[in-house]
Amino acid sequence: MNRDQDDLDEDFIKLSSKTLDLPETKISSMLNQRVLQKVSGSYPDYYRFEKGISGFEAGTAVFKHGDNILVVKGFPKIQRAIVLEPAIKVHFEGSSSIAIEEKMNGYNVRIVCFDGKVIALTRGGLICPYTTEKVTDEIGHDFFQAHPNLVLCGEMVGPDNPYVPKNIYPDVKSVSMFIFDIREKTTGKPLTIEKKYELCTRFNIKTVRYYGEYPIQSAAEIITKIIKELGEEDREGVVIKDPGMNHPAIKYTCSQSTNNDLKYAFQFYNDYGRDFFFSRVIREGFQSVEWDDNEEALHDRCCRLGESIIKPMVETIKKRKQGERIAEDVRIRVNNLETAWQFEDHLKRLGVDAQFEEPVFENGQYLILIRKINKSTNDRTSALLDGQLW
Ligand code: ATP
Ligand code: MG
Repeated sequence: MNRDQDDLDEDFIKLSSKTLDLPETKISSMLNQRVLQKVSGSYPDYYRFEKGISGFEAGTAVFKHGDNILVVKGFPKIQRAIVLEPAIKVHFEGSSSIAIEEKMNGYNVRIVCFDGKVIALTRGGLICPYTTEKVTDEIGHDFFQAHPNLVLCGEMVGPDNPYVPKNIYPDVKSVSMFIFDIREKTTGKPLTIEKKYELCTRFNIKTVRYYGEYPIQSAAEIITKIIKELGEEDREGVVIKDPGMNHPAIKYTCSQSTNNDLKYAFQFYNDYGRDFFFSRVIREGFQSVEWDDNEEALHDRCCRLGESIIKPMVETIKKRKQGERIAEDVRIRVNNLETAWQFEDHLKRLGVDAQFEEPVFENGQYLILIRKINKSTNDRTSALLDGQLW
């Protein structure tokens, strides 16, 4: 609690108490405990929920604009089906059909319009200057002029992606936004699937791939088929939704995507949480049983998993042994160098240790390589090579 009480915005506490429907004392204590944090430095100053509390998801952003308080609800967690068939039956009990969408692999963005400016919020509720530049170009203002109270929720994918760099979407050469939900700003309530696609079509906004609506009874079988096809293309998986959006969505992913995650993460084995690895191994076990793997399929699955774990680690250990620094190389492409420097500050705020290389001017834009140093993996690997005990 190194926060100076004077620092707290009394005005904000008073005004937001009404809008958030929380007592002023509660808001003060959330600020003191840093559950609700003021974000300064970028335009505009605002507050964000660092954790989920009192009905507000983590990542909820609260802006003060004159005497008005504007709330942008956080994006809800999507639970995962481990065994598809029973999970769909239990979760969507009472519904006759479900809608299937592709789950794209990038990072979650909420786009809103505030004070005439388009703003991109990442999952944790921080305004990302890089993403903001991209969505301002790609999506623009038209949608928000007609619908100022709606939020576009989408996945930012592609290789020029500083958070989840993936080169698996052949049509995306740089980075691009694919919308998957449209929600009300203040309540977070989603529009129905039909309304969402209708609005996106009307405003010429790209969406994730939509497979359509299917009866509950045949859903698992259809999804299994889709998952196998998506896996072949190294794509991530599906999100299963209630067409009226009256139930929370659930997700299900391909074995190939699980393995690709592991391959990537085991290069930086000490920087990722253990649960990241554990949950992925568990998925493979259950999928093998649900899909009734024969001897050969099971053997392949085991080899694939082992390789995804050990090979990237061996690479890392060898590199470190030769004195190399283990780093995640990502890149951004900006119109304006100012955006890159703002993004550098943004990464500092996130506590990421990153080195920005000299910008390269290419086709009217600046390409900048960023090396994110994975300190924990570097230190742990060196120490173990030097004889430290586990
Ligand atoms: P969480 O489990 O909290 O939702 P996570 O980072 O573990 O977060 P993922 O496993 O990637 O999440 O799955 C959820 C995320 O999938 C969403 O937050 C969203 O960014 C992304 N996503 C991609 N495609 C879709 C889609 N069609 N519908 C909904 N979300 C999608
Ligand atoms: Mg994801």
